[in-house]
Parts: sequence; C-alpha cells; structure tokens
Amino acid sequence: MDRREFIRMMGLAVGATALTPLYAADEDMVVKAPPMPDVPATQLSEKCWYIRAKDPEPTPENHGFFSNPGFIVTSEGVVVLEPGGSVQIGEMILRQIRKVTDKPVVMVINTHYHGDHWLGNHAFVEAYPDVPIYAHPATFQKIKDGAGDFWLNFFNRVTNNAVMGTIVTPPNKVLKGGEVLKVGDTELRIHHYSNPDYEDRVHTESDLMVEVPDQKIVYIGDVAMRRIANAADGSFRGTIDAMQRWQKQFAGYTLSPGHGHHDDIQLFKDQELFFKTIWDNVAKYYEEGLSPFEMKPKIMAEPFMQQVASKWPGYQSTLGKFISVAVQEYESSMF
Ligand SMILES: [Zn+2]
Repeated sequence: MDRREFIRMMGLAVGATALTPLYAADEDMVVKAPPMPDVPATQLSEKCWYIRAKDPEPTPENHGFFSNPGFIVTSEGVVVLEPGGSVQIGEMILRQIRKVTDKPVVMVINTHYHGDHWLGNHAFVEAYPDVPIYAHPATFQKIKDGAGDFWLNFFNRVTNNAVMGTIVTPPNKVLKGGEVLKVGDTELRIHHYSNPDYEDRVHTESDLMVEVPDQKIVYIGDVAMRRIANAADGSFRGTIDAMQRWQKQFAGYTLSPGHGHHDDIQLFKDQELFFKTIWDNVAKYYEEGLSPFEMKPKIMAEPFMQQVASKWPGYQSTLGKFISVAVQEYESSMF
C-alpha cells in the first residue's frame, strides 16, 4: 500500500476530521516531526523484551516517550505490546526490534485506550499494512469517541509538537480476556479483570494483560506501576481486588509494566498497598466528616506512604487527585 492509499484508508477508518490538524489537503505537505533517538531494548527472557522509558511524563526532550513498549520474538514473528504514543516512537521500536531479529511483526496488542499505549499503531500499519491490532472492545469505543485526537493534541502540546504527523490508527481485532493465542511456538494468554461490582475496572475498563507462560512473563500495561499519574478512569476497589487475585495467580512471574522498571509480584503488592492505604483512610475520614483536603496530610503520614509511595514520581503533584477520585468512588458506593 502506498502512502496515498494508506492515508485514504485511515481517513475512512477514523473520519476525515482526525486528519485535519496534521495533514494539509495535499499529502505532499505532510508535516512530520523528526525521528526520536533510539532507546535500547532490555531482554527479560529468551523471547521477551521491553524498552524502558526513563521519564514518567511526556516532555519535548523525550519526544513524548514515557511508557514502556514490549515485544515477544516467536518462531513465526514478533508480537508487539504497546506500540508507543506516536508514529516516531513506533518507528523507534521497529528499529530496536530489527537489532534483535529480522522476523516480521505479526501482531500488535494495545493494552488500553490511553494514547501512549496505542497511537504508535500508525508506524506498524505503515510497515505491515495487514498486521492485526488487538484491543478490548472498550478501547475501540473510546477511540470512536475521540480518544485519538484528545491524546494527540495533549502530546503535541506538552512535547512541543514532537508527535506531529501521527495518524490516529485504531485497532482492528477484538480481545475480551480469556483467549489463548498461539503464535508459532509461543502461547499467549490474555487477561482482563472481570468484576461487575466494580465495572470491570482496574486502571480502566479496557485493560488487557498478556501472559507468556513458557517465559514466566506477564505484560501488565498500566494496571500496576510505581508512579502516580491517572486514577480518573479506574477503580480503587477493582484495583485492590485485582492485585490480590493476581499476586496469587502470577507468583514466580516477572511483570513488565507500562511505566517504570520490571519486577516480580511485589509490583502488584505495592499497588495494592498504595490503593488500599488511600481507600481505607478515605472511608474512615469520610465517615468522620473530613474533606479531601483535610484527609491528605493524614494519608501522607501513613507508613507505606512515607516509606514507599513518597518516592514515586507524581507523589507531590498528584496524590491529592487520587484522594478526590477515591472520595467520589466512596460516595457512589453508598448508593
Ligand atoms: Zn494508562
């Protein structure tokens, strides 16, 4: 497929409006920000890799690269988890894959609808026009509702237009959780948290995790991270419940997260303790009639916060938002 066809196809797929800020009427006037520098991949096991973003937030200096793509090299080809948040990042990931294998990319999986986890689809469709891109139905819905433009505009604003030229490229195949995919010699098990009491939510209602059983690796997207950034789409009770479940289920596994360093199930344990410390205290102080503003210093005095969470990026700036979200969830849980 040539570039003209590709752009036309994308226009049909997402509606021409998505293209207007990025492309002039004549495709020769395409404005595309320069490539981003290589970030070397880290090998987790024989088949599994990830590319660790050093920064916790998008900036002009990091070209908006602040979440960790991963890839699995199977006998049949490469499976990419998290294609990055721009065409430039997607192309950088492809260059790192090329250093490891010359096998084609045969599958892309988007773990949820936050833009840093799927806008790089563009680069993979350009390189492999027929590549299947999987995501949860809730990711499809959010992209249909405009998540692509929302995140692109945000990234362009905070990176000084380093993601310019990225075309909103939605996934094209559905995973709901529970599937077992066979890619050459490698089995992939797909996990989605399901508990209607908490709207099936952990970090969002669309989270997918990808388990590679023969490598004892699980790519967890954003369901757990040592970073305080965005609780608005998630559930405190869903997160606590999921973390308790998955600590048992994935004992002995290495977790490759969407943000921060890989680790064992201690990553799930820390996430559980962080969310539980906030939730339990919000419940207690809400009943005592305290405002979120008054709760904050009391929660910050908890040992887990002082000893562990206070070292995470975003603690000073974003903890208050987490407490507000917990208060809202607590209020709605009473009806
Ligand atoms: Zn996210």
